[in-house]
Amino acid sequence: MKTVRDKDIKESRKALIKRARRVVIKVGSGVLTGKDGLNRKIIRDLASDMCALRKKSIEVILVSSGAISSGLSKIGLTKRPDSISGKQAVAAVGQASLIMAWEKVFERHGQKVAQILITRDDFNHRGRYLNARNTIFTLLAWKIVPIINENDTVVVDEIKFGDNDNLSAMVTSLVDAQFLVSLTDLEGLYDMDPRVHEDAHLIPVVDKVSREIFRFAGSIPGFLGTGGMRSKIRAAQKASLGGVPTVIANGTKPGIIRDIFRGEEVGTFFLPQDVTLCSRKRWIAFTKAPKGGIVIDPGAERAIVHGGKSLLPSGIKDVRGAFGLGDSVVLLSQEGQELAVGMANYDAGELRKIMGLKTSEIEKALGYKHDDEVIHRDNLVLGSSFEEGGIACR
Ligand code: GLU
Repeated sequence: MKTVRDKDIKESRKALIKRARRVVIKVGSGVLTGKDGLNRKIIRDLASDMCALRKKSIEVILVSSGAISSGLSKIGLTKRPDSISGKQAVAAVGQASLIMAWEKVFERHGQKVAQILITRDDFNHRGRYLNARNTIFTLLAWKIVPIINENDTVVVDEIKFGDNDNLSAMVTSLVDAQFLVSLTDLEGLYDMDPRVHEDAHLIPVVDKVSREIFRFAGSIPGFLGTGGMRSKIRAAQKASLGGVPTVIANGTKPGIIRDIFRGEEVGTFFLPQDVTLCSRKRWIAFTKAPKGGIVIDPGAERAIVHGGKSLLPSGIKDVRGAFGLGDSVVLLSQEGQELAVGMANYDAGELRKIMGLKTSEIEKALGYKHDDEVIHRDNLVLGSSFEEGGIACR
């Protein structure tokens, strides 16, 4: 792992934060709620810091967790119900209190807010994705702070972001934000769980999310929220590949947002990558949930991974799952290694009919042809691009 503390990093951290005119601030359940429900003092402090940003004309998009944990205490439950409908009912109760609490504290500063509840499915469809984006842009133009949470009352596994860390990274990309602030109940990323190990060290700067960083994070689970440190790192990595810096810091500390924006060295700062995935490729790789897999032969693997080529039917050995035209699919080697993610021009049923065939034989086999390529190069993101820090659109 490379943690960089020199003057250059300090300066570039300050410059990056100063440049940010649109920011996503994610606040975790562990910050917003305690055993007695919503922590109104913390909510007040955070809102006041966010309003100070608004006064400097910085646009703020708030991703707020806390629906389930605030619902629990409201109903008088000590633990999450086991059934899905139970959890959803708790979230429905808690979301109402959560948004009311935010509205009240923002109102004191004359700041209007809006509630947006979304599911991953809304991001999977390009049309709905763009629609959500336009709505948020309209709110921002009206100087309103959008407050976003996952629509917990309707989500089932297939259409779930999973956690609000993932949601915050996707929102960052959706609205082209220039900075992601992730507020949790720890100071930042440590090399060990600080709640267990007294000698754990805070990592001030991460210049690239490596396997080692994930290993550190693996040992630090979340308590109230669903994410834990690992999902925060994954979110920071996604933002970084989009050219956006992230800070993970302690949201329970009064004035934390102010300190971050003053450029003080609080929390863990994740530098953005220089060469990044363009918005479309990020959408394919990170936003759309893969619906299936395509196993390819070594020739196709070489052509795609090293030759920059598209996927043709001739290289396909197996088709897994039931994906539709336009869905994201994972490309797998015959050994099962995940090579790339791409957007398919044919559905799974069609591919089973044309796999192994030459391009010229597609029409005969199907009676029609959408495209020569099963996945066009422009809609393909190689796995190596995540490890190497991203590729530009080619
Ligand atoms: N959407 C969930 C809630 O508001 C939180 C998910 C998370 O903590 O990551 O309760």
